[in-house]
Amino acid sequence: MPKKRKSRGRKLSDSGHEKPVQCHACGRLVPADKAVRITRWVSPIGGPLARELEKQGAYISKRLETRYYCISCAVHMGLVRPRAEEDRKIRRPLQARRSRQTGKLPLKFLKL
Ligand SMILES: [Zn+2]
Repeated sequence: MPKKRKSRGRKLSDSGHEKPVQCHACGRLVPADKAVRITRWVSPIGGPLARELEKQGAYISKRLETRYYCISCAVHMGLVRPRAEEDRKIRRPLQARRSRQTGKLPLKFLKL
């Protein structure tokens, strides 16, 4: 049977079963190797207030947060996008792919 993707949309590993993780946006349970994993620094204070406080010299502690998204939510949020058949064969990690694309995208599509 022909396959759309060599990896079947998952990270290849020897394990037959992956522990499910919950999507941060919709709550759906997805296998950990299939979910889109986003790790970033999150500040308890966001937006212009944080910028103003940092300008004044305040230190705002940040914590590293890892979020998992199901494929549907990741596509909807613009974290990943469907690629052409030939492009699908190029295997790159998500972080590298994202940084390469951000240069080309207009700023309104930038979701980091
Ligand atoms: Zn979801």
